[in-house]
Amino acid sequence: MTYCPKCGEKIPEDALFCPKCGAKTMKGVETNVPGPADELKAAFSKMSIELEKAFSVAAKEINAAFQTASENIQKSLTKDKIVCPNCGEKNPNNSVFCYSCGKKIKAE
Ligand SMILES: [Zn+2]
Ligand SMILES: [Zn+2]
Repeated sequence: MTYCPKCGEKIPEDALFCPKCGAKTMKGVETNVPGPADELKAAFSKMSIELEKAFSVAAKEINAAFQTASENIQKSLTKDKIVCPNCGEKNPNNSVFCYSCGKKIKAE
């Protein structure tokens, strides 16, 4: 019989993990058995890599979406301007009269 290095529980000599607390025993450390903690660590590091990948993909997509949206806004802003046929001034799309020359520009 040997004792758990963590909780002091009596455990069999050939046990690699403490049956009570799950800690790796001296024998477990010696034989370098991959414990649940190590697997968890590996899973976590794998997950963080996956997350990083996912985030960079998402960031690219968000960037592209922003670019498209701002382009659309710019397009709609210039599209909605009313160009005065008299003087060529760009007026806001709700204008009835040109703010530069006073000519009626709203189509009836
Ligand atoms: Zn233990
Ligand atoms: Zn005008």
